[in-house]
Amino acid sequence: MDKQSRIYVAGHRGMVGGGVVRRLKALGYENIITRTRSELNLCDQAATKAFFEEQKPEIVIVAAARVGGIHANNTYPAEFIHENLASAHNCIHSAYEAGVKRLLFLGSSCIYPREAPQPMQEDCLLTGILEPTNEPYAIAKIAGLKLCQYYRKQYGVLFHSAMPTNLYGPGDNYHPENSHVLPALIRRFHEAKVDGLEEVVVWGSGKPMREFLHVDDLSEGLIHLLEIENPPDWVNVGYGSDVSIKELAETVKAVIGYEGRLTWDSSKPDGTMRKLMDNSKINATGWTPKIDLETGIRDAYEHFLKDTEAGAV
Ligand code: GDP
Repeated sequence: MDKQSRIYVAGHRGMVGGGVVRRLKALGYENIITRTRSELNLCDQAATKAFFEEQKPEIVIVAAARVGGIHANNTYPAEFIHENLASAHNCIHSAYEAGVKRLLFLGSSCIYPREAPQPMQEDCLLTGILEPTNEPYAIAKIAGLKLCQYYRKQYGVLFHSAMPTNLYGPGDNYHPENSHVLPALIRRFHEAKVDGLEEVVVWGSGKPMREFLHVDDLSEGLIHLLEIENPPDWVNVGYGSDVSIKELAETVKAVIGYEGRLTWDSSKPDGTMRKLMDNSKINATGWTPKIDLETGIRDAYEHFLKDTEAGAV
């Protein structure tokens, strides 16, 4: 990969794709190809094929996906499996046909079985049943990973995958109902501070443990994976340690400078008690994250404030 390489980043409007483009630009890459959803619908096989034939990218990063929290997954399961399967297949197959030599496909930690031993190692894939609430999404992501593995095996193309843990940072989804815990808490504490509320309610018991990775760390990790000679077929990309939701809430509260009370709504579900990635495989290739949780939340909050002022949140 050199600075002139033609690199197509699918999904550049999302948090991950946006982070990768920012990082590539900062490193001086000059030929980054992007298309919005209205310019190129990756679920349209003919359009995707034509785009690859015409643009002839050398390197592809597939960060395009239909994503959402538990509520969205439950409401639109057919759309989640269809769109994620179709876009993964169209991108990977068209890339192969157009002579792309290297492709990195993005998945998620929800591909691993619900009862996987913690921390979750790559080889626990397909050893048990999935969490039913995100099964449609996970099945599509497993199919994408397997497409890469078998195209690599049969055709000798270097197609491989990365499975990130929970992400946060610039470009996150701050939707009041549908977002994940970290952006939800940033928004809630911020609004409570602005409105002078006496208490902020956080869901569950505060006991579940979660791992969080800043998207800038992920972007650096993905570019690192594209540069190593013999990457694993799929590899976890996580922070390496987790925090309780209680510690997370207290950190967000301190960063935002909210001085009211924090209370717990035990009628809301805790979900899985622990979800931590085993990162030894990627660490052994020479990558480790750099942004600690508090620094990362500070950065995410600054971007949230800018986006709020600009009316984008
Ligand atoms: P999960 O990692 O798939 O369980 O997804 P979430 O990010 O939605 O939830 C993580 C944990 O944070 C769960 O234990 C939630 O109960 C807890 N939590 C606390 N407050 C909130 C909130 O305001 N929104 C969300 N989404 N989760 C919250």
